[in-house]
Amino acid sequence: MVVKTKCSKCGVTINLDFGTLTREEAAEVAKRMDETPRECPGGHVELCGFRRLWNMDDAIHRAYDPQQTLEHWHYVRSSELRNIIPYINTTDYIVNSGLPYELPIMRARLFARFEKWVELYQDDPLHTDALMRAERVHRLLSAITPVEDDSAIPPDSLLREFIGGSCYEY
Ligand SMILES: [Zn+2]
Repeated sequence: MVVKTKCSKCGVTINLDFGTLTREEAAEVAKRMDETPRECPGGHVELCGFRRLWNMDDAIHRAYDPQQTLEHWHYVRSSELRNIIPYINTTDYIVNSGLPYELPIMRARLFARFEKWVELYQDDPLHTDALMRAERVHRLLSAITPVEDDSAIPPDSLLREFIGGSCYEY
């Protein structure tokens, strides 16, 4: 997997080839890179801190493909159940950033993939979790009318991070 990002110091584009590593392994490598002095392709030498300088966590997150996201959903969920949900009542504020128009937009972009996954994971004992989650999303999206035109979504919407056209640079 080639992870593309930008150096936040000099603005040069960085391409990191993580080969066949899984997302978790790539994150591990990124963590180790963070401790090794090197030269940015933009020309400046840094002693450490590439993870933040090159926004590596975010770049890795965006680069890994949706099927891998689906297959690894259970890791995300279990860490959420361990590290986030138990503390939910200890926060001062809870912000739910979900907007109703996200579903019709996502239906238009993702439904075909979920149809494919529901078929792909049938009778696959190694992916029962992915199948269960794919079926659930497939069922949810089935009930939604797809909307192709995203021109009404502002460039500073969080949704733009997922569908493109954001005014922010990551
Ligand atoms: Zn740089």
